[in-house]
Amino acid sequence: MPELPEVETVRKTLVKLVQSKQIENITVYWPKIIKTPLEVEQFIDALKGETIVDVGRRGKFLIIYTGQYALVSHLRMEGRYGLYQQEEPFDKHTHVIFHFTDGTELRYRDVRKFGTMHLYTKGEEFKKPPLMELGPEPFSKEFTKQYLKSKLSKTNRKIKPALLDQTILVGLGNIYVDEALFRAGIHPERLASSLTDKEIATLHKEIADTLGEAVKKGGSTIRSYVNSQGEIGMFQLELYAYGREGDACKRCGTPLEKMKVGGRGTHYCPNCQRLNS
Ligand SMILES: [Zn+2]
Repeated sequence: MPELPEVETVRKTLVKLVQSKQIENITVYWPKIIKTPLEVEQFIDALKGETIVDVGRRGKFLIIYTGQYALVSHLRMEGRYGLYQQEEPFDKHTHVIFHFTDGTELRYRDVRKFGTMHLYTKGEEFKKPPLMELGPEPFSKEFTKQYLKSKLSKTNRKIKPALLDQTILVGLGNIYVDEALFRAGIHPERLASSLTDKEIATLHKEIADTLGEAVKKGGSTIRSYVNSQGEIGMFQLELYAYGREGDACKRCGTPLEKMKVGGRGTHYCPNCQRLNS
């Protein structure tokens, strides 16, 4: 599942591929991907003739801007965008094709079909679902230690599920929440409301640093992530916790453990992240 750094990498790549291209037509093979408007014909009619001016991001959502519209796109598990020549073949997993006037096309491919697209008149996109309820961006001035403390003090949940809640903060998914908690030395099952001011300050810093480093790494290696099929792929930061169960902790050498927290596979160091400290 792409998280904020991966989506940001896709955004930076995508904008270079499609900026200034004019949409001649659109073919939709799997209409359920289009959530708004309800009629796919309206979606197609609106975007015909529009020119892509920019690609933005909010949390894990991409926003493809044309002159008049904002197309809010979530890749979910397997969604991929790729730019192709129109004569190149495509397979049954390609669900939406934006045909450009220059003979190229942007293809949306999604094996699991969980991805979504919402089209709004520009300016409306932040007032409507799915963007309207999102919490602040981790690099924004709204995301302060005080803000994090106020949100965590009001919930009865454990810290990991609280941090995955996109209405509290956008951008953290299963990988980077494990990383941020490891780096902050906080056990994923701690009650969110039990964190001390010092722990919240450390966690606040580690969330921003973890995501910031991942974005920077993605940005610096961006070229290698457009593969030979023109698909924009994912990169991975060097990880401390996620996926490393049984391996030695990079800080203390203790084997890392894995358990379920809130139904999600969770990786942690039983020595560096104590439940009762
Ligand atoms: Zn450790």
